[in-house]
Amino acid sequence: MANKTSASILVTVEHGGNGVPKVYRPLFEGRDAQRLLMSHRGYDPGSLHLGRYLARTFDAPLVTNTVTRLLVDLNRSVHNKSLFSEFTRPLGLTEKRLILERVYIPHRHDVHEALDKLMHNRRRETRVIHLGVHSFTPVLDGKKRTTDLGLLYDPHRQLEREFSQRWKQALTDIAPTLRVRMNDPYRGKSDGLTTSLRRYYAPDRYMGIELEVNQARLQNPTRFPPSLVRVIVDSLHWAVDLRSTSRLFSAPSATSAVKCSHVRRAGYSSGHRAMKR
Ligand SMILES: [Zn+2]
Repeated sequence: MANKTSASILVTVEHGGNGVPKVYRPLFEGRDAQRLLMSHRGYDPGSLHLGRYLARTFDAPLVTNTVTRLLVDLNRSVHNKSLFSEFTRPLGLTEKRLILERVYIPHRHDVHEALDKLMHNRRRETRVIHLGVHSFTPVLDGKKRTTDLGLLYDPHRQLEREFSQRWKQALTDIAPTLRVRMNDPYRGKSDGLTTSLRRYYAPDRYMGIELEVNQARLQNPTRFPPSLVRVIVDSLHWAVDLRSTSRLFSAPSATSAVKCSHVRRAGYSSGHRAMKR
């Protein structure tokens, strides 16, 4: 029987830290490298704490990465030119492959595994809201960004669009001065983790939403102030409130096809797990 309240949340944090595994430290020697590691180029300050908090509050599985994006960017596809940074781009193919196996593939694997588990281990009709938690620099290329909070989604996926509109409405109802924008400062359809996951999971089973919070709102280098976190939590509660939603959380159609994972798994077979956080 269809269960109208079957929606689960998965929280992921791709840019949670600026860690450099010991074996790669020689690549980041020098003051410039250290400065970049500490900057928004190195990681998304505040995202790890926020992601953990959301996962705990909503009793959701959490997949995090704390290796710097300057080693490899987990929010880019393997074909993207910015997958590797200026520090790792010059490396040979074998070394790049090793970085993928040690850092990139285990994260993707864990995300797929968590999604599969949520979708299949409970009732068959479970739908997942995947929240990718990020933060962004308030000034990029000399341009000030006035958005406080961005919700990134694919406008062509109806459920993502409706959910994001609900969440934005809740955010601005609770905190009218908060500047919440859709698909800003980035577009939800751009190359990234959610975009790649949309190719694997049907629109009525998977909603990939990225939450982008302006680093100007940080209380300190590791976290956003409790008042802002509270607003995010309360609004999200409201947006996913199963009692007040209708179609958004009705069961996916019986014919809904979740693509089989064996093709993907073939490419994600032998990741080294030694570097797992
Ligand atoms: Zn990010």
